Amino acid sequence: MAFLLSSQIFLMVTFFCPNCWTSIPEETEICPHCGYELKQFGSLTYEDKLLAALHHSVPERRIMAAQILGNRGCEQALPIFLDILQSGESNYFLLRAILMAAIKINSPLRLEVLTQASHHDSLLVKKLASEMLTQLNNNQAPQKWDRNTG
Ligand SMILES: [Zn+2]
Repeated sequence: MAFLLSSQIFLMVTFFCPNCWTSIPEETEICPHCGYELKQFGSLTYEDKLLAALHHSVPERRIMAAQILGNRGCEQALPIFLDILQSGESNYFLLRAILMAAIKINSPLRLEVLTQASHHDSLLVKKLASEMLTQLNNNQAPQKWDRNTG
């Protein structure tokens, strides 16, 4: 419990550049690391902010973004999910969140994401993706996965 609380406080007081995800001081206008103009971020749509957060430096934020994008059925998330799968990402919890989000997004690209994941180096990822593919091929609704996400 103490750990949870302190990590929440940490997230509240730490500011990140939404382009390179380096932590920066609160009042920064231009990121000293990548030159991104931080005002630009305010004009992005909610979904664009979520898509950007898939590259957040804090894994919990990436997981949260993937879950919300899945619940919103956001098709633009799928190519980014594919990139993450191909990037050698090894955080199982992030990969699981990505698969659970992908299966909820009704687009042909979702099959590509799951197929790609079914060849992943991680046995757990491989197994989950194969189960999901079987379910999709049997035309079963992906409700089973809904219980596990927010
Ligand atoms: Zn930056």
